[in-house]
Amino acid sequence: MMEKNTLDKPVNKIRKIIGVMSGKGGVGKSTVSYLIASALKLKGYTVGILDSDITGPSIPRLFNLKKGGIQAEGNYLIPFETQQGIKVVSMNLLLENDEQPVIWRGPLLSKAVQQFWEDVAWGELDFLIVDMPPGTADVALTVMQAIPINGLIVATTPHEMVAMIVSKSINMAKAMKIPVWGLIENMSYLICPECGKKIDFFENTVNSGSKNGVEILAKIPMMREISAISTKGLPVQNEKVAAILEEIAEAVLKKSAL
Ligand code: ADP
Repeated sequence: MMEKNTLDKPVNKIRKIIGVMSGKGGVGKSTVSYLIASALKLKGYTVGILDSDITGPSIPRLFNLKKGGIQAEGNYLIPFETQQGIKVVSMNLLLENDEQPVIWRGPLLSKAVQQFWEDVAWGELDFLIVDMPPGTADVALTVMQAIPINGLIVATTPHEMVAMIVSKSINMAKAMKIPVWGLIENMSYLICPECGKKIDFFENTVNSGSKNGVEILAKIPMMREISAISTKGLPVQNEKVAAILEEIAEAVLKKSAL
């Protein structure tokens, strides 16, 4: 399945690498990474997720993965493959338990990110989604420097405070000359868990995209099915969920030109 070269390094063929970043923690960056990966996988593409949020890895929880799924083979790591068939590498799959903190300074964190990129046998993938650490600090910088990202998607929410910080992420990407494909506005509105009605919860909606000359690729509502992903999985048959995944897949495929 996988080729090796003489240095015993994996030979990976990855067609598009998408970085998912956010100005702040808690806006749903990892949820957005999960939804992008799921949307593309459902369309029949091969997908991997590199969880480069070393100190706050959320991807294994979202997929309900337990420790130990990552195997070492020679000098490299074999990603964990989820039930959905998505390949995942995350710090939390290497720790004894997922509540154990990683108390490392920047250079070590950066090294871990580099290894997740260089020493992992991803094999052939259509898409690698890189769930980035929040903010614009040194590990985010390492991701941008070490991984040849084709396009960045910024996860945001319609709050004034978040909009201001989104601009920092966009300006960082510009400084690093990495294309920003657009924003995904999470928690954009609310879907009532009782009646299914759409509620515009945030009165002072801020369009941080137009301010920065960046388009909004998709809007994701706040809904019970999304908050329950880690315990119940994503009900992809649910009409509203299916519509959200379709919107995300369409936007990402258009940007990636695959
Ligand atoms: P981040 O990666 O930005 O820190 P997460 O993706 O971990 O954020 O999301 C933070 C919390 O918000 C999680 O508990 C997640 O389940 C919840 N959440 C995120 N997006 C939604 C949504 N659209 N609807 C409901 N809950 C959400």
